[in-house]
Amino acid sequence: LFVSFEGGEGAGKSTQIRRLGEALKAAGHDVVVTREPGGSAGAEAVRHVILSGAAEPFGVRMEAMLFAAARADHVRALIRPALAAGKVVLCDRFIDSSRVYQGITGDLDPVFIERLERVAIDGVKPDLTLILDLPAAEGLARAGRRSAAAAAGQAVSPDRFEKEEIAVHETRRQAFLAIAAAEPDRCRVLDAARDEATIAEEILQLVEASLAE
Ligand code: C5P
Repeated sequence: LFVSFEGGEGAGKSTQIRRLGEALKAAGHDVVVTREPGGSAGAEAVRHVILSGAAEPFGVRMEAMLFAAARADHVRALIRPALAAGKVVLCDRFIDSSRVYQGITGDLDPVFIERLERVAIDGVKPDLTLILDLPAAEGLARAGRRSAAAAAGQAVSPDRFEKEEIAVHETRRQAFLAIAAAEPDRCRVLDAARDEATIAEEILQLVEASLAE
């Protein structure tokens, strides 16, 4: 079973992946936890190029191709073999992050993004995608990108930069929700504003249902 986790920053993806991984292992499953960009030696090398900003001067198209190159290696070296061995693969971000970050807010043609996706995944698509959904301002506050006062729910008026950032984050949020609406068989949207344990329980139930299919 291949499960991907998607959502904006601060939605709690890594916490929930860790919890789910532990729960599935305790239930006797063979689990592989991985992330993008990265997850295999080739992809981690590309991750470094992407996150260091070294590719930024060469434009979003090149960056999108690097993400795709990393994904192709990740699928070939890690994900496909793990699935073939009957393992449960939990991946922090996958195709939907590319569609949203490089496509929607990166302003790249969706056809170009779709072509890259097709080449990179080579038929390996998540069986289940869990989208952790959170209002933009809350996600940014949780991710430590806004002041402690904002995180504590106290009124602070965001400066121009923060307002822009919230708007971009909200655009991404809506794009993830649109993907979920377009692919309801694969995607589930979870309200990430609830407490950690409640969300973890819902995720475990969804994954157990997929495992039983
Ligand atoms: O998963 P995490 O929130 O740590 O992601 C780190 C960052 O990597 C994201 O906030 C986003 O800026 C970037 N990213 C991206 N395109 C992807 C995957 C991640 O721009 N396909």
